[in-house]
Amino acid sequence: MAKPIVAIVGRPNVGKSTLFNRIAGSRIAIVEDKPGVTRDRIYKDAVWLDKEFTLVDTGGIEFRDDKGSMSDLILQQARLAIEEAEVILFVVDARSGLTATDEEVARMLRNTKKPVILVANKVEDFTGNMDVYDFYRLGLGDPIMVSASHGLNVGDLLDEVVKHLPEYAAEEYGDDVIKIAVIGRPNVGKSSIVNALLGEERVIVSDVAGTTRDAIDTYFERGGQRYLLIDTAGMRKKGKIDEPTERYSVLRSLKAVDRSDVVLMIIDAQEVVTEQDKKIAGYAHEAGKAMVLVVNKWDLIKKDDKTTLRYTEEIRQELGFVQYAPVIFVSALTWQRVPRILDLVNYVAEQHAMRVSTSNLNDLVQEAVRLNPPPSDKGRRLKILYITQAGVKPPTFIIFVNDPELMHFSYQRYLENQLRATFGFEGTPIRMVIKKRK
Ligand code: GDP
Ligand code: GDP
Repeated sequence: MAKPIVAIVGRPNVGKSTLFNRIAGSRIAIVEDKPGVTRDRIYKDAVWLDKEFTLVDTGGIEFRDDKGSMSDLILQQARLAIEEAEVILFVVDARSGLTATDEEVARMLRNTKKPVILVANKVEDFTGNMDVYDFYRLGLGDPIMVSASHGLNVGDLLDEVVKHLPEYAAEEYGDDVIKIAVIGRPNVGKSSIVNALLGEERVIVSDVAGTTRDAIDTYFERGGQRYLLIDTAGMRKKGKIDEPTERYSVLRSLKAVDRSDVVLMIIDAQEVVTEQDKKIAGYAHEAGKAMVLVVNKWDLIKKDDKTTLRYTEEIRQELGFVQYAPVIFVSALTWQRVPRILDLVNYVAEQHAMRVSTSNLNDLVQEAVRLNPPPSDKGRRLKILYITQAGVKPPTFIIFVNDPELMHFSYQRYLENQLRATFGFEGTPIRMVIKKRK
């Protein structure tokens, strides 16, 4: 289910990222020690009073046309927040007082119907010595005074935030429907691929109005399997969303990823993998989604017998943390291999939901330990007592050990590789939770 987005906007240095880190809890801590998985996440899930939301620090978002002035940049962030967020936190700095940029942003935020909460940060002294009266001039109501760095009054702020969160109806798609998010930068061919997939003769299509604002999902069937293409607004037929919306499609993509089982990451064969691609792929990985890497516009590439291999290697290099994702080379224009995309979706969806019996798992781990015993650390050796699969989508394993501190990343990676070598789990991330057995 998609969570509502709460966006933090404001000038640099007012304390946005401090506030972000103060509020945001983290996902289940599955730490990946690999470059490429973004550590400085600008999106985090948070919970307050049982209400879940996704917090976004707009200060950390890169825009494609980052050449404008600082105030242009902040206004772009504010526009993004207005378009994508359900609640906007506008942070100002109570120490430095009101600035012209604050007023400019406020002017823009006053014109939205979305709830805007004015946050006066860096207030450590609540005896009334701090002059926050100026901030009323912004016309955004009472500022909530907080100190992000000291955690003062942040609870009151969150009370206010959750008051404004919308109630979402639970989505009613059964487990037998494969939910697909199609992501990729503008012009890589998302619309063309979606239309090609839906244009196949065997495919029966119907639209469903999405639960989130503006989202149009497409529901279809092929060969008895049911699918939901998430948020295809702007992708179907005519194909284009208007330019400004398209420019801010990152958040939209992330929301689609959250709701999906399988992510189709579209890459233009003529272009290189960008930082933005890596961020989105990293997000999908951390969110535990299955993934297929679709290299599109294959018709435009001059090929010899090494071309596919070379492309695959380059993508593997750039997107190292999704080694498990199969790569397919297609052309939406000529339909080359387009029907294969859904075959791969079926396959990775199955792997994503696969369960392995506890006895098979323990046999495998015993054998793995026999072949390659864990190294000892300061005279102590890791003992693996028991492994069991606690969940699917993504496959999640609990490994009981004598002392979790002794489980090193490289050994965990070794176990993951053994699991993959034996059972497959192609196209899906795997989670391992290491627990001390009492
Ligand atoms: P951003 O650029 O808006 O994300 O701002 P940062 O979160 O990076 O904070 C900018 C500076 O303000 C840092 O030096 C923080 O330590 C400081 N800061 C943030 N919140 C507070 C606060 O509540 N009180 C004080 N005194 N300083 C703060
Ligand atoms: P989107 O912005 O990701 O939805 O991309 P579109 O589907 O709108 O495609 C962008 C442009 O690339 C359009 O001009 C398409 O005609 C073109 N295009 C899409 N797929 C292919 C392909 O497989 N081969 C070629 N040659 N052009 C393609």
